Amino acid sequence: MEFKKSQELYTKGLEHLVGAVNSPVRAFASVGGNPLFIKKAKGSKITDVDGNTYVDLVLSYGPMVLGHRHKKVQSAITKALKNGYSFGASTKNEIKLAKIICDAFPGMDKVRFVNSGTEAVLSGIRLARAFTGKDKIIKFSGCYHGHQDALLVAAGSGLATLSLPGSKGVPEGAVKNTLIAKYNDLESVKLHFETHDDIAGVIIEPVAGNMGVVTPQNNFLKELKEYVNSKGALLIVDEVMTGFRSKFGGAQELFDVEADITCLGKVIGGGFPVGAYGARNEIMEMVAPLGGMYQAGTLSGNPIAMAAGISTLTELKKQNPYEKFNELAQIIEVFLLESAKKYGVEITVNRFGSMINPFFTNKEVENFEDAQTSNTKKFAVFFWEMIKNGVFLPPSQFEAWFLSSAITEKDVKKITKAIEKSMEAVAKM
Ligand SMILES: *Cc1c(COP(=O)(O)O)cnc(C)c1O
Repeated sequence: MEFKKSQELYTKGLEHLVGAVNSPVRAFASVGGNPLFIKKAKGSKITDVDGNTYVDLVLSYGPMVLGHRHKKVQSAITKALKNGYSFGASTKNEIKLAKIICDAFPGMDKVRFVNSGTEAVLSGIRLARAFTGKDKIIKFSGCYHGHQDALLVAAGSGLATLSLPGSKGVPEGAVKNTLIAKYNDLESVKLHFETHDDIAGVIIEPVAGNMGVVTPQNNFLKELKEYVNSKGALLIVDEVMTGFRSKFGGAQELFDVEADITCLGKVIGGGFPVGAYGARNEIMEMVAPLGGMYQAGTLSGNPIAMAAGISTLTELKKQNPYEKFNELAQIIEVFLLESAKKYGVEITVNRFGSMINPFFTNKEVENFEDAQTSNTKKFAVFFWEMIKNGVFLPPSQFEAWFLSSAITEKDVKKITKAIEKSMEAVAKM
């Protein structure tokens, strides 16, 4: 397998792009080597500029749940393009996508569209503060909620991969209202409420996907919601990754928990930049123009992005691939565990719906501390062997692998074969 053209583009890219990437997670910092440049993708496959084709388990870090360039989505986008790309005024499709989303999430009466997950969360946080009149926010160590200043502490994958404690350029004042709790540990949340009386809300990834996949244990989410509300604070559920991915109604449907504020992104734009935040009427009426919380966006509700979102969610609902996702992820899990055993490699596999990943550790992984016991050098070897065997993975131990509904039996065979080879390579280190 050759990466000559990717290498050339990487070198060229360094001149005017920072590290030749527009998001640090795309750099190959923790796995070594240089990032691959992509030419195109179709269905479950992605092809780099050297003509190597891989089964894609990155899927743009989640959005491409139907695989790439689904026929229906592509035709909806083409149709929308003919009418113009941006108007700075309302369109019918914004109403349509809003209805699909509110129908899927019973806790949302109204929704506001923005352009990224980051924006959805920063607006959701502002809304929690506006509604409660309080300032402090609790987040969980290892959860990532986008790159806004206030939440860029103990923030999982990108930072964990680069071993940064937080970020330079974030003033102390910006994080002074952020409190950190431990995932799956309600006591750590209670401790904060016992010592602070100005907590507006708690934000959580209902299934964490940015420290590798970490699932809520027992009744963690339900108990968290009850406790947080009993203290007069709001539960902000960041479903940017899990929304429409683990279930049409997100992790909230699966765990039977209703958020006070829900943040969405990724899948709802079908590959275009869309985020959204929503809540029941009483909360959303705080938002301008109805209320005093300001939040705006020149390109928000962009007509092309709305068309992509509507067609993606409509097709997703029709396909209802969630059973298939579970089955596929289980096959991959079993295969990971069996080949690890065969070659004497210690791993733990966590999965949830269409999100899965192995941790190279002998510990159960229930929080960020556990995740960090992983041997990232082993992951690096594993990663490159998977690439060489035709499977495109996120270049980090702390990112979830994603499945799309376009995945075929042949793809699964390719994945399992690649796992076998990669585990063997790790054993030989
Ligand atoms: C990806 C992600 C974000 C940030 O979304 P962007 O579109 O990258 O800004 C926020 N929260 C979670 C849980 C995410 O996975």
